[in-house]
Amino acid sequence: MLLTACLRRCARLLCWIPVTIVIMVVMWSYYAYVVHFCWILLSSSTQRVVFLCLFHISFGMFSWSFWKTLSTPPSSPSVEFQLSSSDSLLYEQERGGMEKSQILLDISQKLSVHTRTAAGAIRFCHHCQLIKPDRCHHCSVCQMCVLKMDHHCPWLNNCIGFSNYKFFMLFLLYSLLYCLLIIATVTPTFIQLWLGKLFDSCVKLHVLFLTLVSAMFAVTLCFLLFFHIWLLASNKTTLEWLSVPFFVDGPASEAFDVGVRANFLQVFGKNKSLWPFPIFTRSVLRNTGPSQKISIFQPLNNYVQLCTQYLVGNPFTEMTASMRRGMEAISLWHC
Ligand SMILES: [Zn+2]
Ligand SMILES: [Zn+2]
Repeated sequence: MLLTACLRRCARLLCWIPVTIVIMVVMWSYYAYVVHFCWILLSSSTQRVVFLCLFHISFGMFSWSFWKTLSTPPSSPSVEFQLSSSDSLLYEQERGGMEKSQILLDISQKLSVHTRTAAGAIRFCHHCQLIKPDRCHHCSVCQMCVLKMDHHCPWLNNCIGFSNYKFFMLFLLYSLLYCLLIIATVTPTFIQLWLGKLFDSCVKLHVLFLTLVSAMFAVTLCFLLFFHIWLLASNKTTLEWLSVPFFVDGPASEAFDVGVRANFLQVFGKNKSLWPFPIFTRSVLRNTGPSQKISIFQPLNNYVQLCTQYLVGNPFTEMTASMRRGMEAISLWHC
């Protein structure tokens, strides 16, 4: 028992290694750019000031979105989806698969879950003992069910889902801009160093590596960002792209698509001035698109609108626990 607990703790610590590597690479890039490139290599003070200002804005936005994506805990389903102790006992006592499925089906009636397993049964998480809401999946690393789970990111050691998808998109965008800014400003010096017109072994090494590493990350981030823009435009998660969700009447790959604009606003909210900032601004719109699966929950929109307005009006105010639970419970049917 003690050994298992120790192993689990060690595994949890190991999960932070990729995050540490990312932080170290970013810190080194900061040092190489500011000290070696701007401070030592640049001779024009105007150029130095302009480059440093642009760099620090880019670095600030990147660090903010990175921290928010990393530190925002994944949202788990609200208690309504948890099996009560009596239901749980009833479920465990039942031996046959059909009978177990019927128990889950009866409980799910009041929850209005739409997605099913490939066999047509209600999706149930045996680890968390809950009925999985639509778009919810169990993460074996976080050891919990995650709402609108996209994927588990080892570089951030966090699940990307309902609570932090906007932050993740901004993280990809600002990471790419950070790399592109470095490439754009360092490349002329990089060419001079490459041709041997400037020579300082230590400075040369830092600047050469900075350009190459930035170019390598920029290519990868570019692919990743455009892939997630495509997913966002079609209201899909990575998991849904890999495995089409099943409903009562079979699989439907475009089930949650309510139009490109509405799909975008679901994640980024309606207040355009807050789109560039990693602040929770999700909104849930009235169903204006082709999906019929969410139209039956129109009355709940009022509450969601209220929550959204509150959040948008007070962007720096943390959501209260009850508001978060409410948003999560309702969003299951809309997102
Ligand atoms: Zn679970
Ligand atoms: Zn996870």
